[in-house]
Amino acid sequence: MEKDKLDFEKNIQVISAQNLEELFYFQKSVRDLYIVGAGTTKEHLSNSHKGIKSILFTRTITDLCQIEKKERYIDIGSASSLAQILELGEKIIPKVFYDALKSIANPFIKNLATIGGNICYTKKRLTLFSPLLALEAGLEFKASASDTLYIPISKFHEVPKGYFLSKIRIPIEDWDISIFKKLGPQETINAFSAFFTFLAQIEKAVVVDVRIAFCGNISFRHKELENKLLGIRLPLSSKFKNELILEAEKLYDLSFEEYQENNTISKTTDALLKQQYLNLLSFSLDYLS
Ligand SMILES: Cc1cc2nc3c(=O)[nH]c(=O)nc-3n(C[C@H](O)[C@H](O)[C@H](O)COP(=O)(O)OP(=O)(O)OC[C@H]3O[C@@H](n4cnc5c(N)ncnc54)[C@H](O)[C@@H]3O)c2cc1C
Repeated sequence: MEKDKLDFEKNIQVISAQNLEELFYFQKSVRDLYIVGAGTTKEHLSNSHKGIKSILFTRTITDLCQIEKKERYIDIGSASSLAQILELGEKIIPKVFYDALKSIANPFIKNLATIGGNICYTKKRLTLFSPLLALEAGLEFKASASDTLYIPISKFHEVPKGYFLSKIRIPIEDWDISIFKKLGPQETINAFSAFFTFLAQIEKAVVVDVRIAFCGNISFRHKELENKLLGIRLPLSSKFKNELILEAEKLYDLSFEEYQENNTISKTTDALLKQQYLNLLSFSLDYLS
C-alpha cells in the first residue's frame, strides 16, 4: 500500500491500492477520499473539486478489471479499460455499446480510460451512457465487502456518498435494429457532444421492444414515446411517423425545461441538438417504414 505520493499541481495525496481489500481499508480510514478511474477527464483537477486532499486511482486494481460473460448478461469491472472491453469484439458485446466504445478518443486514451469514469463523470453524460441506458444496464456500488447497492442506470444521478462503482451489468439480447450515433466532434468531447441510441426488436412485422436514448447535456429515454411504437405493425405509415416526431419534440422540450432549472445551456446549442435528435429519430424510424 502506498500513501505518500503527492500530485504537485494541487498538493493532492495520491493513494494506491493493489486490491479491493486495500481499497475498502482506505475508503474507511481516509477522510473524503476521492475515487477516480484513470483520471483522463481531469475532473479531479477542476474547480468544483478544489478541496480534495486524497485521491485513489482504481485503474490499477485488477479485482475491478474482471469481465465475466454469461448467457444473458456480461459483467464488467468498473476499472476495465475501454481497450480491454473492445477486445471482446462485436460478437460478444451489444453492437451499440461496441460502436460507442470505438468512437471514444484515440488508442492511447482508450488504453487508460475506464468504463467507470465514463459513467460517473458528473458534468454531462459521456459516450457510453446512451447505449447503456438503452440496454438497461445495472450498476453495482460498494462501500465495503458487505455493503453493496444496485442501481439501474436509468435511476443513476451521482455516485452515492461513501460508495464507488464496482461493476456494470449489461443484459445481452438480440436486437434487429441497433443504431448508435455520436454528435459533435469525433474522438473528443465538447458542449455539442451528444449520443443517440436506437434499438428495436421485431417479431412477425410487429414492434415488440424499442429503446430510444439521447444523452449529453440533457439525457433522457422517453418511455411514453417508446410505448407508442410497441405493438405497431410494420411498415410505419408516414402519418404515424410524423406524429411520433411531433410527440418526440414536445417531450424533448419538457426535458430541456427541467434541465434549465438547474443548469444553463445556450439556446443555440439546444436548438442544434434538438434538431439533430429529431433527425436521428427520423433516420431510425425509416428502418421501420
Ligand atoms: C483526447 C481525449 C479524448 C476524449 N474523447 C472522449 C470521447 O470521445 N468520449 C468520451 O466519453 N470521453 C472522452 N474523453 C474523456 C475520458 O477519457 C473518457 O470519458 C474516459 O472513459 C473516462 O475514464 P477515466 O477512468 O479516465 O475517468 P476519470 O477521469 O478517472 O473519472 C471521471 C469521473 O468519474 C468518477 N469515477 C471514476 N471511476 C469511478 C468509480 N469506480 N466509482 C465512482 N466514481 C468514479 C471520478 O471521480 C470522476 O468524477 C476523452 C479524453 C481525452 C483526453
